[in-house]
Amino acid sequence: MNKTRCTIVRVAFAALVATVLATVHGVQAQPGPQRANFVRLVVPEADTVQATSGFYRLSAGTVPGNHLTLNGAPLKVYPSGATAGLLPLNVGENLFTLTATSPRGDSVSKSFLVIRLRPPETTPDSVLAIDTIMSEPSQELWLNEGDRLDLQFKGTPGCKASNDLGIPMTEVPPAYTGGLGGVYRGVYMVRDGDTLSLRRIRFRLESPAGAVAETLSRGAVSIRCNDFPYIGVTKGDRPALAYGLGEDRLGGAKMSFINPGIRLAITGRKGAMYRAALAPGHEAWIAVANVDLIPKGARLPAALTENWVVYGDAKYDYVTVAIPLRLPYSSSTETSPTRINVDVYGATSNTNWIIQQLTTKEVTNVYYTEPSAGVFRITIELRHRQIWGYEIGYNPAGLVIKVRRQPEKLKIKALTFALDAGHGGENLGALGSTGVFEKDINLAVVRELKSILEDRGARVVLTRESDADLTMGDRVRKVVSSGADLLISVHSNSVGLTTNPDNTRGTATFYKHVCYRPLALAIVKQVLKTGVPLFGNVGSFNFSLNAPTELPNVLVEMAFVSNPQDEMMLTDPEFRHRIAQRIVDGVDDFLDSCDE
Ligand SMILES: [Zn+2]
Repeated sequence: MNKTRCTIVRVAFAALVATVLATVHGVQAQPGPQRANFVRLVVPEADTVQATSGFYRLSAGTVPGNHLTLNGAPLKVYPSGATAGLLPLNVGENLFTLTATSPRGDSVSKSFLVIRLRPPETTPDSVLAIDTIMSEPSQELWLNEGDRLDLQFKGTPGCKASNDLGIPMTEVPPAYTGGLGGVYRGVYMVRDGDTLSLRRIRFRLESPAGAVAETLSRGAVSIRCNDFPYIGVTKGDRPALAYGLGEDRLGGAKMSFINPGIRLAITGRKGAMYRAALAPGHEAWIAVANVDLIPKGARLPAALTENWVVYGDAKYDYVTVAIPLRLPYSSSTETSPTRINVDVYGATSNTNWIIQQLTTKEVTNVYYTEPSAGVFRITIELRHRQIWGYEIGYNPAGLVIKVRRQPEKLKIKALTFALDAGHGGENLGALGSTGVFEKDINLAVVRELKSILEDRGARVVLTRESDADLTMGDRVRKVVSSGADLLISVHSNSVGLTTNPDNTRGTATFYKHVCYRPLALAIVKQVLKTGVPLFGNVGSFNFSLNAPTELPNVLVEMAFVSNPQDEMMLTDPEFRHRIAQRIVDGVDDFLDSCDE
C-alpha cells in the first residue's frame, strides 16, 4: 500500500531495476564466483534521512550466502540475502555502516546517516523569544457561532502572554505539555454576532522585567457569524464528504463519495477543507478544491421530497425520488435483512405516495423514515442476501438509486472481473529488502489471476496492463464504467518507518462496506491455505478502491513485502500462482454462499 516514499527511492534504485525485474519474473540471477559482491540499502531510502522518533526501519540486502554486519554487529540474513530490523536512534546524528562479506572473504560496505531531530525544548529563561513551532492557529480558519478558537504558542517560561484579540492566555503547567515549559494557551468560543476579517493573530510575550517579544500566528482567522452559511456547489470527479479532519495517509475517514452539482451549506473552513452543515447535528468536511461558492441568494440546500417511482428495466432496478434540488447524501448497508439505506440531508418528506411497478427483480420493498430533522432516509429491501451494488446519482427530476441484481448464474464463467494491480510507473509501492518493488509483484499476480479467470471462461478487465501509474480516480472510473461484477485489488503490504519489518507479516483482506465483507472473508480463508499467516480481515477500510458501492469489492494485501520471509514468498513465481489460485477459490466459495 505504501506510496509515500516512492520517489526518493526511485533514483537510488535506478541501477537495480534490471535485477528487480529479473527476480519478479522468476529469472533469478545466477549465483557463481563471477557474481559481484554488493550490499543494497533499501530503507532508509537515502544516504541521509531525518527522523523524529527513536527508531527507523532497516531493510537491506546482499548476495545470498553473504554475512552482513551493522556497525560490526552481525545481522540475520535470510536465504534471499535480505535483512530487516529496527535501528535505535540517539538524538542527533546516527552513522551506520552495513558490511557484506562473501564466503570468499571479500567485503563491501555502505554507510548512511539517520539524523534524529531534537524534540522541542523549553526556551531558557535568559532569552526572551517566541518559537515558530507549535503556534496555533496554523492554518486558515473560518469560524462560526459556537466554534472554538484555540490559540497557542511556545516561548520563554514565566512571562505574560497576550494577543491582539484580547483572549486571555495562560502558561500550561509542564505536566500537561509533556514536560515542556513556556507553552501558552487561550480558548475562545465564538458568539453570535462576532466578526473578524481574515487576518493573522499577533501574539505578545512580556518578561517580568518588561521586555517584549511579538510574532504572528501561522494561520489567519476569519469569524463570519453574520455571513454564514455560504452556498457551495460540488465539482470534480467523485468529491468526498469526510467525517472529520483526519490527515493520515489514507486521508480523513470518508462518509460518502457524492456527485458534482450538489448544493452544500458551508459554515466553516480549516486549511484546505470546508465544513458543510448537512442537517441539525450532522456536518461533513469537503476539499475546498471540490466546491465552487455561488452568490448569496441562491437556494440553500433544503427541499421537500416528492413522489417516488420504483421499477426495473432489462438490467437494473431503480428507485427514483423526485426532488427539486441536488442535496448531499450518504449511504449504508445492512446484511440481515439485506437493505440499502440512503440518507438525503436537507430533505423533508412531502412524499405522499410511492409508485411500485412489478418489474423489479432485486428490490422487494421501499419506504422512508426521518430519523432526525433534515435527514430523509430511503430504505431499499432486497431479495437476495448479497448486495451486488448500487449507484446513487441525480437526473433532472431528482435522485436515482440504480440497484444491481444478483447475477443469474453465480459462476465465474458468467461474470466480469475487474482486477487492479496496485501502484505502477513512478509509484513503486512498498519496498522489499532484496530491492523488489510492490508494483511489480502486484502486476505479476494480477496477470496470474487474469489467466486463471479467463481459462475459467470469465471476462476480465484490468485497470493497468503494464507498468503505468494511474490515479485512484482513473482506476475507479475504469472499474465502474466497465460494468464489472466484482473488483479485486491486489497489493503487497508494508510496515511504516518506525516498525520492525521482521516482526510483522501475513495476509489480509480489506473491505469498507459491510455488505462486501463476505467476499473478503471467503478470499482470506482460502489464501491462508498457501501457508502465509493471517494478518486480518479488515473492515471499514478507508481506501479509494474499497469506496465504490457499485460492485462487490475487496483489497487483498497478499503478504508483507517489507518482511523478508513474506518477501521470499512474494518473489516466488510458484507462490504467486498458488495465491492467485486461492483468491479464485475464495471467489468460488463466495459465489456458492450467495446461492444458499
Ligand atoms: Zn500497495
